[in-house]
Amino acid sequence: MKPALRFGPLIWALALSCSLATALPEGAPPPFALGAETVVPVDFYDMDLDLVFDALAKTGTGRAIIRFHAPEAGYPLMDMVAEPTALSLNGSPLAPSLLEEINSPDGRTKIRVLKQHVFAFSMNTLEIQYRFPSEEVTYANGGIRVGFFMGDVGSENQRGFLEKFAPSNLEFDSFPMTLRVHLKNSNSTHQLFTNGEIISQSETDYTVRFPPYFTPSSFYFHLTNQDFQVRQATYQGLTAPIPVTVYASSTDLASRGLSSATNVLSELEQTYGPFTHERAVAYITPNGGGMEYCGATITSLSALEHEFTHFWFARGVMPINGNAGWIDEAIASWRDNNYPSHSTLSSSGSLLAGFPDFQRMTPMAAYSSGARVMGHLDYLFRANGGLKPILKELFSEHKRQGISTPEFQAFVETQSGKDLSGLFAKHVYGTGRRLEAPSKVESPHHPRPFTAAEYKALR
Ligand SMILES: [Zn+2]
Repeated sequence: MKPALRFGPLIWALALSCSLATALPEGAPPPFALGAETVVPVDFYDMDLDLVFDALAKTGTGRAIIRFHAPEAGYPLMDMVAEPTALSLNGSPLAPSLLEEINSPDGRTKIRVLKQHVFAFSMNTLEIQYRFPSEEVTYANGGIRVGFFMGDVGSENQRGFLEKFAPSNLEFDSFPMTLRVHLKNSNSTHQLFTNGEIISQSETDYTVRFPPYFTPSSFYFHLTNQDFQVRQATYQGLTAPIPVTVYASSTDLASRGLSSATNVLSELEQTYGPFTHERAVAYITPNGGGMEYCGATITSLSALEHEFTHFWFARGVMPINGNAGWIDEAIASWRDNNYPSHSTLSSSGSLLAGFPDFQRMTPMAAYSSGARVMGHLDYLFRANGGLKPILKELFSEHKRQGISTPEFQAFVETQSGKDLSGLFAKHVYGTGRRLEAPSKVESPHHPRPFTAAEYKALR
């Protein structure tokens, strides 16, 4: 969301007449040609999402209203895995097929293009209706189980974020969302767990508001008629009380999760500064790996500390695209390894951020080679207290904002007064190395991602 939108069409018209400079959102992939048109990244202003689930008919439908700003003229770029069933732009109905799924020009992923020309600097309202993906909801015992359970490594077609469940943009964009869920023909009791603000809830209707700094990888929403044990506490943070909710299938897991959560919150606040989210929510799974959201996680007990570290780096300071995802995994893994200092790096270098523009997923090498890069930076800055104070400053200045790899490099160089261009060329951009598929390198040290079958059982 960009504050300048407040000033309305006049300012946009003035901007158009005064300057030919483009204002593409930071971190967005570049525009590309499609036939005679240009496909352009757009900036979501906000989204209203209404989901209706019929527990008897076992069907789910979605209706999204997206207001977006187009910084350049052309066909808007966005995403959604499900096929639209109805479509309208600025009040005019369109054939649903005009929100077409295509391969990204670099072949990394699939995306959607709205094949309607919009003007530069225009604000637009897009309405999309669709069937909620049947593989992402379970109908059981007269109710439903649905979780926005995401993945950022190795997902098929690299589409692991909000686009699995609803219309969405790419990860560079942040936007607020109001989510309403209505249950029809349900005779079951549900529990709702979310990192948004619960505006209202009844047996059949739920309204949740998510804040403007959330990106497509931030939203945590879990509505289920599984019976979960819940433990809650207020953790007295450095600057504010933090409501902590931990839930699990057993009281033992929930209790141990709450204890671990408050301990690591204290450690991380001491190291990196005050927690930045409105609440902390953790779903403790009996086994498996973990995944982070803004102030929420689904995680095994053993991965809990790693996932909570992501509340500072990943969902505090947020990767602006797949070429920045290595930063937070490298930091969290460096912490998992107890912050070792490395005087040298491997002679062969490593590839962490040199991928094509539409890369979405984080390379597995982030957990191993990336963590070593952080340990080496710590060694280089040892005369000034190491890397941790610099990361604390990074969090202080960039929390709730996106960061790219060049921005991260520039920040660390400014803070340390060292030129790191050679180090980044060899050990981050993999200069001189062959480009390899990012998910092929396995690391035994990191909590593995949950599988689709596990997510289905867990919701
Ligand atoms: Zn991680």
